[in-house]
Amino acid sequence: MTAITDIAAVGTWVRDARAIAVLSGAGMSAESGVPTFRDAQTGLWAKFRPEELATEAAFRADPRRVWDWYASRREMMKDVHPNAGHHAIAAFQQRHPGRLTLITQNVDGLHQAAGSVGTLALHGNLFEDIWLDPCMGAPGHGGVCDVSRALPGRPPTCADCSNALRPGVVWFGEMLPAVALAAAEDAAQACDLMLVVGTSGAVYPAAGLAHTARQSGARVVVINPEPTELDSVAHALVRATAAVAMPALLGG
Ligand code: NAD
Repeated sequence: MTAITDIAAVGTWVRDARAIAVLSGAGMSAESGVPTFRDAQTGLWAKFRPEELATEAAFRADPRRVWDWYASRREMMKDVHPNAGHHAIAAFQQRHPGRLTLITQNVDGLHQAAGSVGTLALHGNLFEDIWLDPCMGAPGHGGVCDVSRALPGRPPTCADCSNALRPGVVWFGEMLPAVALAAAEDAAQACDLMLVVGTSGAVYPAAGLAHTARQSGARVVVINPEPTELDSVAHALVRATAAVAMPALLGG
């Protein structure tokens, strides 16, 4: 049984740690006003499960519907800013260069906006568009579709072939970016303390990094106001929100 711990006790582990890995999830951004995946399903979108929208098959079946869902998520995030938790992580990295590796499942760019360096974004970036398919080789095309010449639409399409733009996020069933995942696995193996914050621990392979850290001998701390699927992996549970716990642990 993992103990529910007060923040001060975990603070001593932070001070002693040589290498810290932070694994963050959607709850990290909740106090910035970004809804978690489940909470984002409101209004028009309430009748869909994220698994019915965030897949390549869903996009191919109904590109406009999936494009519009992401457009609504981009719109929701337009006026959103990093919170005290994002800032505490970035400030710690600046005070202690090379001591904290940040691994995030978030696609909202808030860690990067707070100034975190070398963020390993395992699930991509909501604000980047990428092509759905390889270039279809229209004459004069030069072998690569040109984003700057994309025709406006829902979704925008290539001016020369029928390729479509899609959001640069990792969909259910897709591979994670190999370089970021390998770096995250290295960090999970090398750290002596992993802080798992704001994730339900339900999405793999990201959640597997907490198991890797534990098996490699690190202390694992889950920071979340609610129970998670990684609680049994943790040495300590901090039942607090990200914007309260991260400044308390890492310094404000
Ligand atoms: P999730 O929605 O499954 O779980 C969110 C977790 O955050 C829950 O355990 C919840 O108890 C916790 N939480 C809520 N408020 C919190 C707070 N203030 N402080 C700390 N924890 C809090 O999210 P997940 O585990 O990240 O996995 C779902 C997937 O959704 C990921 O793949 C991620 O890419 C994607 N996603 C990302 C964003 C984003 O970029 N902000 C938003 C929604 C979904």
